[in-house]
Amino acid sequence: MKYSAERCGYCGACVSVCQKNAIELRETGISFNLKCENCNACASVCPLGALTFENH
Ligand code: SF4
Ligand code: SF4
Repeated sequence: MKYSAERCGYCGACVSVCQKNAIELRETGISFNLKCENCNACASVCPLGALTFENH
């Protein structure tokens, strides 16, 4: 998952939708942990296009 901190509005929608608890909302943005399974759910709910799927 590619994250653009410039676009993020800290709404928390991605955190709520993630079933793996792989996203943490912090004062300076969000961070992903190793539980992420690249399901793309967070990117699909982000209202600001701050998350884009990227297969590593
Ligand atoms: S891609 Fe899926 S598992 Fe990974 S952070 Fe987003 S919602 Fe969670
Ligand atoms: S859903 Fe998008 S705008 Fe909202 S906190 Fe997550 S990355 Fe930021």
